[in-house]
Formats: sequence, C-alpha cells, structure tokens
Amino acid sequence: MLNKKIATLINEQVNKEFYSGYLYLDFANYFADEGLDGFAHWYEIQAQEERDHAMMMRRYLIDNGVRVTSGAIAQPDKTFNKISDPLEAGYEHEQYVTSLINNIYSEAFAIKDFKTMQFLDWFIKEQGEEEKNAEDLIKKFKMFAHDAKGLYALNQELAARVYTASTTGPAM
Ligand code: MG
Repeated sequence: MLNKKIATLINEQVNKEFYSGYLYLDFANYFADEGLDGFAHWYEIQAQEERDHAMMMRRYLIDNGVRVTSGAIAQPDKTFNKISDPLEAGYEHEQYVTSLINNIYSEAFAIKDFKTMQFLDWFIKEQGEEEKNAEDLIKKFKMFAHDAKGLYALNQELAARVYTASTTGPAM
C-alpha cells in the first residue's frame, strides 16, 4: 500500500499526463490547420507518449492497491500567433512537468519510499529527454525555418518521427 500523499500526487500526475497529451493534440490541431502536417504528426506522437505516461502511472497505482480516480482534464488554453509559439509553449510545459515529477520524487525521498523513487527514476530520465527534444526543436526551427524552403524541409523531417510505445519504463 502506498502512502496516501504519494498516491494522491501520482493520481494527480495521471491527470496531468493526460492533459499534456491533450495539450500536444491541440498543438497538432493548430499545425494541421496551418498545413504543416509534419509538425502535426510530431505532436500527435508526443500526445501518444503522454497518454502512455499516464497509463504507466495508473498501472503503478493499481498494482499498489490504490483506487485511481479520473478527474476532469483541463482544456488547453494556449493561443498561437505564429508557428514557433507552440514550440516555445511545449518547452515551457516540459519544464513545468519536470518540476511536478521532481516534487513527487522529493516527497517519496522524504518518507523513504524507495519503491516509488525507483518507479520515478524512469520519468526523471524521460523528462531530461523531453526537455532536450523540445529545446532541439526550437533550435532547429530558428536555424532552418526562416524561409519557406527551410520550413518545408523541417516539416518533412518531423513527418518521419516514429512512435515507440513507452513500455521499457517502470514495471507495467
Ligand atoms: Mg509526460
């Protein structure tokens, strides 16, 4: 059985991971509307990964005897004026998610919940990668997408992203 506070935090994180997925789907909607199908595809995969994260956390709770609750998922509220806006918003969002995961880790550390710390290790590493991916995308955009040709090439590159299920993570 998990500590009640830890269980509540992870349950809240399940909701926030679904929100992340919903947010990235909203980014994809924006790019689809702009005719940038590669960018849309990249964020659709991003959304799928976030739903995987939510399901991994849900499974951890269930496997530890916690009754998971399914709260409302917030509506994405970002507005975009130019195509670099979602990229910037994505990087900011990942930094926020890192702070949330770090917070749960701190709480687990404080009560010597080693099992949860080990579970969260995968997510700590994952957040490092998520932040890097988001930052790299901004860098690439700034470097290559200042004309139509460069934007077209970047769109093509992002169209090639392949989804891999996040099942190599913590025990499902
Ligand atoms: Mg995530």
